Amino acid sequence: MSFRETSAPSSTENLHPVAGPVRFHFQNTYARLPERFYARCTPTVVASPALIKVNSGLALRLGLDQHALGSAEGIEILAGNRQAEGAEPLAQAYAGHQFGYFVPQLGDGRANLLGEVIGTDGARYDLQLKGSGPTPFSRRGDGRAALGPVLREYIVSEAMSALGVPTTRALAAVTTGQGVYRETVQPGAVLCRVAASHLRVGTFQYFAAQDDVEGVRLLTQYAIARHYPDAAQASRPTSAFLKGVIARQAKLVAQWMLLGFIHGVMNTDNTSISGETIDYGPCAFMEGYDPAQVFSSIDQQGRYAYSNQPFAMQWNLTRLAECLLPLLAEEHGSQDAALAWAQGALSAFMPQFEAARREGFRRKLGLFSEQPGDAALAEDLLTRMAEARVDFTALFRLLCAAASDPYADSSAAALFADPSSYDAWAAVWRHRLAQEDVQPEARAASMRLANPVFIPRNHLVQEVIEAAVDKEDYQPFEQLLALVCCPYEDNEAMAKFATPALPEQRVHATFCGT
Ligand code: AMP
Ligand code: MG
Repeated sequence: MSFRETSAPSSTENLHPVAGPVRFHFQNTYARLPERFYARCTPTVVASPALIKVNSGLALRLGLDQHALGSAEGIEILAGNRQAEGAEPLAQAYAGHQFGYFVPQLGDGRANLLGEVIGTDGARYDLQLKGSGPTPFSRRGDGRAALGPVLREYIVSEAMSALGVPTTRALAAVTTGQGVYRETVQPGAVLCRVAASHLRVGTFQYFAAQDDVEGVRLLTQYAIARHYPDAAQASRPTSAFLKGVIARQAKLVAQWMLLGFIHGVMNTDNTSISGETIDYGPCAFMEGYDPAQVFSSIDQQGRYAYSNQPFAMQWNLTRLAECLLPLLAEEHGSQDAALAWAQGALSAFMPQFEAARREGFRRKLGLFSEQPGDAALAEDLLTRMAEARVDFTALFRLLCAAASDPYADSSAAALFADPSSYDAWAAVWRHRLAQEDVQPEARAASMRLANPVFIPRNHLVQEVIEAAVDKEDYQPFEQLLALVCCPYEDNEAMAKFATPALPEQRVHATFCGT
C-alpha cells in the first residue's frame, strides 16, 4: 500500500499486526527415548512454499502466534524448508497390521515429528509435518502428500474436533510448488498435524515383534506418563494402562458410530494410544444409512465397514494386549494368569462400546431418563432407516424439530420411501417422550447439540478439492471449513450444504491418495 506524500497516515494502518519471529518453545521428550525408537531426519526442502491456511483458534490454544506462523519465516518452517528453533526432527518407528497382514516395519515414511509444545491448557501436543519428504522409513514412497488428501484431512479432522470427537488436528497447511506423482500429477502439500501424541498400537508392535521387551517397557512407561498418569499410581500400571486404552477406544468408536463416521483404514498403525482419531485417508461420513457401507477403494472385503468398526477396534486392542503380555505376566505372576486377565479386559470392550452407543442414541433421540425399551427404540429406527437408506445426519437433525413440533414430522417422514414407516416409529417415540417431564423446547435444544446439521459430506469435500487442485480456488475450502466448525448451528443461507448428494454428485469410494 502506498500513500501520497501529502496524505495523512491512515488510522487503519496498524491493523495488520507485524509478525514477530516464530517461537514454538519445543520440548523433545520423544527424542530423549533410545535411538532405536526413531530415525533422526530433517524435512526435504521444497521449491516454493505458499500458505493455504493457519488454524488461528488452534494456534491460540497452543500458545503460538498465528501471524508469525503465516509469515514468510513461518511458511518456510511449515513447509520444512527451515528448521524451527528447538525442533529435533525425527521419523518415528512403528509396525502395523494392515488389513490383517503384519508389516514389522512401517514408520513415518512421509512425516517428521518436530517436537512437542505445551498448550495453554497445560497439555502436551506433538507437532508433525506430514508430506515433508522421504525418511529412512519411506520404502518405495516419495515421502510426499498430495493437496487433495491434505485438504480432506484438514477439513475432516477439524470437523471431528468441533463435533467433540477426540482427534488429531490441523494447525496449518501449505503447498510446496512441486508436483507429486500419483495416478496423475497432483500439487504437493504439507500438513502440520497436532496430536496428543503419535503413539500407535503399531509402535508397541514394532518392539514386540523384535522381542525387545525393554523397548515395550520403556514405551509403556512413556505412554503412561503422557496419557494415563493415573495408571502410574495403580498397583498394576501396565494392566491399568491397557484398561485405559480399551476404555478410550470404546468411547471413541461409539462416537464415530453416532455420527455415521467410517474411518476406512483401521489398521493397527492407525490406532492411537491416546484414544484420538488418527489418519484421515479414505474416511467418510455415511449419507444413506447402510450398516455395511464401505468407502475405501482398497477395502474390498469390507473389513472396515461401518458396523464392523467396533470389532476391528477390539481386534486391534487384542494386538496391543499381546505386545504387553511379558509386562502383564510380571504383574499377574505368570503368563497364564496374564492371558486370562487380558482376555477379561478385552471382553469389557464391547459392553463399554455398547453402553456409550446406547447413551449417545438416548441423547440423539432426546431421552433424558433411562428405560428398558430405549435401545430397541433406537434399533427400530435404524432398521427402518436402513430399509430406505435414509440420510443419517439429516434425519436425526429433523427429529430435533419434530421433538418440539409434531407438525415437523412430515419433513422427517418425507425422507423415507414409505413415510408411514416413520410415522409408526414416531408414534412409539412420542409415547416414550411423554413419559418425561421435559419442556419440548428444552428437549429440542438439547437434541440439537447431539445431532449436527453440518458434516463434511463427501461430495462437498470432493468439490473443495477439485476447486483447489484445478483452479487454485480455496474459497470453497474456507466456506466448508467454516460450516463444519459450527456443526450444530442452523444456517438457513447455507442449507444446501446440509443436504445429501444428488445421485450425480455421489462419491462411492475415497482413495488413500497417498
Ligand atoms: P497411511 O496409509 O498414511 O496410514 O500410511 C501407511 C504407511 O505408509 C506409513 O508407514 C506411511 O508413512 C507410509 N506412506 C504412505 N504414503 C507414503 C509416501 N508417499 N511416501 C512414503 N511413505 C508413505
Ligand atoms: Mg497411517
